[in-house]
Amino acid sequence: MQRYFVAPEQFDGTSKVRLTGEDAFHAVRVMRMKPGDPFIVSDGSRVTAIASITEADSSEVKADIVELLASDSEPAWAVTIAQSLPKGDKMELVIQKGTEIGAYAFAPFQSERMIVQYDHKKEAKRLERWSKIAKEAAEQSHRNRVPAVEAVKTWRELMAAVPDFDLALFCYEREGDAAAGTGIADAVRKWRSEQAPAQDAQPHIILMVGPEGGFTEAEANEAEAAGAVIVGLGKRILRTETAGIVGLTCLLYESGEMGGA
Ligand code: SAH
Repeated sequence: MQRYFVAPEQFDGTSKVRLTGEDAFHAVRVMRMKPGDPFIVSDGSRVTAIASITEADSSEVKADIVELLASDSEPAWAVTIAQSLPKGDKMELVIQKGTEIGAYAFAPFQSERMIVQYDHKKEAKRLERWSKIAKEAAEQSHRNRVPAVEAVKTWRELMAAVPDFDLALFCYEREGDAAAGTGIADAVRKWRSEQAPAQDAQPHIILMVGPEGGFTEAEANEAEAAGAVIVGLGKRILRTETAGIVGLTCLLYESGEMGGA
């Protein structure tokens, strides 16, 4: 999405904003933006928002602010990667790469076909290490916030948390059905058409990824009953540590976060 930095006085509170001078010319003549088109606008410090054009000519563009963003380098969508505990140090990879890409939080959880033996005694130490990885990756990637690494949840706890999210996606590769199933773009389109974006609110999305052994059908059914949408990530089977990174990237691409128009 196009981004413009404007003077604070071009904001009318937190509901409207104006582009003037070269910015208006750029939006209308160069980008050919029209009423209804969105752009990101920032005063460079305090306010960053998504605005939607109401009136446009090459000397002035008027727009309504549709969403206030928490801060400049933070994604508009808060995506939690819920990752069933993987083997070895794969969780570290998920946290490091997920943080760079823009994950909001990480929620490790236990599930039936998990290959690792979950050791409660080691949890505090692992959480400490995972949080440190998130912090370092956040600094390196110029994030404005460090994603939280939550305590390991049981499957029950994960299912109980599903309704707290605006959108819950359950990554599941249905045998032979990967191509025909719902993809992330479909799920986002449906969600956007059904749920009017709340003013000022950052939508919270959870992306659930199974362990090396995959999810069971019973788990998929339970997640669906809890309100999750079952999504495929294409025709190929991704490793557990790849699926969350790919799903997150697709989601943030859909939100307009990954650059470009
Ligand atoms: N079921 C397989 C592979 C599990 S892959 C097996 O038994 O070996 C690990 C996890 O990554 C899956 O549980 C799923 O959440 C996610 N995943 C991998 N490839 C996927 C795809 N093409 N579509 C949706 N989810 C996928």
